[in-house]
Amino acid sequence: MCPSGSGLGVVFAFVCAFEVVFVFAFAVPVAVELWHWTSPRALGYEPFPVPSRKSIANSPPQLERLLEAAASVRERAYAPYSRFKVGAAVLSKSGRIHVGCNVENASYGLTLCAERAAAAAAVAAGDAELTAIAVVTDAGSPAPPCGMCLQTLLELAAPTARVVLKTVRGKRKHYALRELLPHGFGRRFL
Ligand SMILES: [Zn+2]
Repeated sequence: MCPSGSGLGVVFAFVCAFEVVFVFAFAVPVAVELWHWTSPRALGYEPFPVPSRKSIANSPPQLERLLEAAASVRERAYAPYSRFKVGAAVLSKSGRIHVGCNVENASYGLTLCAERAAAAAAVAAGDAELTAIAVVTDAGSPAPPCGMCLQTLLELAAPTARVVLKTVRGKRKHYALRELLPHGFGRRFL
């Protein structure tokens, strides 16, 4: 504060001058240094751009097609043990859709998730650059891919790729892939 017009004008002028010198000679440089020390690059990782929730939620027609494909292939899921059928569809950069469903096994650990099945189908088709993923289940709320599938998807899709989750009763959630796997392993570590 710099009051003026009082009989102590000289004192206040001195105080004001001190404040200005303090701010520019000390506080500002310290703040700049702290910002550099604590920036993501200084801490050793590259920050991903954060997509706005609004842009993710604006579903283009492709996402509707993607959800329909995931819901359709879900009917073919082989899930005699868990009865938890999952359908997944991935949208490639070329605009093509590839689908997969979960395939369980009597040796439970061999179960293949729908998301990885869809990713493998895209790779097999030579169309592995993915831009969006849809998953449909009959869970009470939209179920995300498991960690193994998220890591697989991160190999083929940008961290900002859309992930649309839906239940058979119509509940939806939209994410960017990096929201579900913010610190995934990648080729930059190799
Ligand atoms: Zn999975």
